[in-house]
Amino acid sequence: MAASDGLKELAPGLWALRQQKGGYVHAFLVASAGELSLVDTLWNADGSVVLQALSRLGRRPSELKRIAITHGHRSHLGGASALRRLTGAKIHAHPAEWDILAGKRRAKRVSLTPRPPSLIKFRLGVALGVPKHPPFDVDEPLADGDAFGPFEVVHAPGHSPGHLAFWWPERRTLVAGDAIATWPSLSPGWHAFQVDPTEHERSLKRMASLEPLLVGVGHGEAIAEGTPDLVHALAERARDV
Ligand SMILES: [Zn+2]
Ligand SMILES: [Zn+2]
Repeated sequence: MAASDGLKELAPGLWALRQQKGGYVHAFLVASAGELSLVDTLWNADGSVVLQALSRLGRRPSELKRIAITHGHRSHLGGASALRRLTGAKIHAHPAEWDILAGKRRAKRVSLTPRPPSLIKFRLGVALGVPKHPPFDVDEPLADGDAFGPFEVVHAPGHSPGHLAFWWPERRTLVAGDAIATWPSLSPGWHAFQVDPTEHERSLKRMASLEPLLVGVGHGEAIAEGTPDLVHALAERARDV
């Protein structure tokens, strides 16, 4: 684990796992009903950052029961195959992303003018599918309204067709995936990556309507202050970044 990689408790029973590689990518681990669930798997193909986080929390790998993949971009898929093998967890994802996860199709290339420029190498990585993730088949489909651990699944397309967010109503906590980014700056996702801007805007407006107090994002730190107003503002400028 690099020095900048880490583990942070966002709220009781909810942790953010961070890896610098892949664009300060974050995964989210949640404990509920005595079981662990994980949203996304970071960059490393060996699952090492997740496994080290489990160890630091005093948890056995076998306590991880399920893994959800927000969408088929490389930064979020890396550890999925290894983590399933090492923990026995089942992998869940929206069917629109399955063929990418299985290595049968590359993520759709979107814009030729990535903004901000610091994202160029990530966009190229998506476009070229390099380096490839270890491919894997999904165990369980996820659709809007399904349960995943303590979360309700929110189908939030736009960034990708099968992009998912996760909503914990009792905590008013949202894991927004790549619909919102806080790295390198707060934005309604990375413009160059939005496959369908109209769908993306609709998804952001739906997220804003939930009035979340805490929002975990795929790239950058979670939003924990002034959150409802910030998410409404992001939805309003979904198209102009
Ligand atoms: Zn993405
Ligand atoms: Zn991403």
